[in-house]
Amino acid sequence: MNKKIILTTVAVAALTCLRAFAFPEVTIDGVEGFQDTPLEPDGKWHVHDPARPQPEVVTPGDKFSQQATPPSDAVVLFDGKDLSQWRDKNDGGPVPWKVEDGVAISAKHDIVCTNQFGDMQLHLEFREPVLVGRTGQDRGNSGVFLMGRYEIQVLDCYHAKTYADGSTGGIYGQHPPLANAARPPGEWQTYDIVFNVPHFDADGKLLSPAYVTVIWNGVIVQNHQAIRGETNWRVPGTYHPVGPTGPIALQYHNNSVSFRNIWVRPVAVNNEP
Ligand code: MG
Repeated sequence: MNKKIILTTVAVAALTCLRAFAFPEVTIDGVEGFQDTPLEPDGKWHVHDPARPQPEVVTPGDKFSQQATPPSDAVVLFDGKDLSQWRDKNDGGPVPWKVEDGVAISAKHDIVCTNQFGDMQLHLEFREPVLVGRTGQDRGNSGVFLMGRYEIQVLDCYHAKTYADGSTGGIYGQHPPLANAARPPGEWQTYDIVFNVPHFDADGKLLSPAYVTVIWNGVIVQNHQAIRGETNWRVPGTYHPVGPTGPIALQYHNNSVSFRNIWVRPVAVNNEP
């Protein structure tokens, strides 16, 4: 091992120790999480509380919307060829993700699409890596950020526990999924998402929150759920005023997660011409 690798290893170990000291994890019934975080607005659970009940496991049916052909009016964001409609979320440069065999594989940074969307229907498919020895939030962590701000978690939750508000299909740090419909790592899974943007008045005061409905592998896991604001680690969510549209972002979180067949249909909330 050369000197640079030794120094890097020591630095990572030191940072890990410091983080563990500053943000002490607790493990309850095999679930790693936190109880020094703020309470959720309902006052029952801390953000990322390992005591919060696990979502019920529901075995999904076969396929559901896997490899669904996009409807004629869909905006196709990834059809297996390239990520030309995406940019590095950090610096706006070319995406650091790879495309191999029609699949986008996460690497290095989050990516964000160049399109802007308001109310919409989103379809995408993801495949978790087979990881040995990883637990909780370290198992295939990624995420779908609606308007680039509100994360629907992507994680390997197949026979694997994590804090409920960080489970796949959860609105991260806020609302656990209504069910755990995970397929095993290495298999393709689907998200079909309906999203309504939040609305603000001219002074930036929230008039109505964002709402999301999430169908994971054919199982509804968010049912027109109001989002509490921007999602982040160890915080319950806060709104900042945003315009009527935003991009979709996909997370890189220290694991390579695969994506395919990503498309969006901009939709109206109702049809009342
Ligand atoms: Mg994530």
